[in-house]
Amino acid sequence: MKVVDPNAAVNAGAAAVQALTISDAQVAQLCAQYMTESDGQNTVLPASNDYAQRLDRIMARFKNIKDLNLNYKVYQSNTVNAFASGDGSVRVYTGLMDAMNDDEVFAVIGHELGHLINKDVRDAYRAAYLVVAARYGIAAVNTTAGALSTGFLGDLGQQLAQNAYSRRQETQADETAFQFCVTNGVDPYAMYHALNVLIRLSGENSQQSKIAELLSTHPNTHKRAAHIKEMAESAGYKMTTPNTTNTGSKPSNGTTTKPKATPKLKMGN
Ligand SMILES: [Zn+2]
Repeated sequence: MKVVDPNAAVNAGAAAVQALTISDAQVAQLCAQYMTESDGQNTVLPASNDYAQRLDRIMARFKNIKDLNLNYKVYQSNTVNAFASGDGSVRVYTGLMDAMNDDEVFAVIGHELGHLINKDVRDAYRAAYLVVAARYGIAAVNTTAGALSTGFLGDLGQQLAQNAYSRRQETQADETAFQFCVTNGVDPYAMYHALNVLIRLSGENSQQSKIAELLSTHPNTHKRAAHIKEMAESAGYKMTTPNTTNTGSKPSNGTTTKPKATPKLKMGN
């Protein structure tokens, strides 16, 4: 790690230089600060909540992720989304849990963990940090716990949202999700089904410009679905589970809530 004297380096260029040398440990600290901010701005459901307990059960099916030091929570939001941060935080939105069955939610989380394992998350935070740090200047650039301003972290979030993962990164994360499914006894077609849920939801919401705009960053969803289906077929798995959602895997309160009328579609990051 290169140490930059904050008094000597006051311009954006110097900030960019330091950002380029940001260490993995600094990225993890950056992610942790970002998550504190994110959790504060979203409605985090308590552990006793049905959604949180369902997520507990789904996460318990991952048998080989101990070294990731995960912490996971549910955000109350119609947004169909889930993400993993570089500090091991996994956040799943109720909109996604409403739209998908347990296997599909498992696969989506597996996909997000894939981005984590493949270092896509680290690279994304690093790239976003570089852009925002250059804008703020060196005085604002300090990844020490609690040092970054709310404004900086907010801009970081916007920058992260703008920088979509590459097609290759998405495909690799899908493949990681497939492997998670296979090694943990989950339907090998769960990732395929999850992608099809997203495709179906995007069709239902195609009239809404906001959804269309979001989808324009994910033009390859059909190809991704086809690829992962082919992978499962090549491995000799037969598709036995119909592509239905909410099949008895809902919280035990007996409700069978359908996806909210206008879910915002963000998954795939
Ligand atoms: Zn992704």
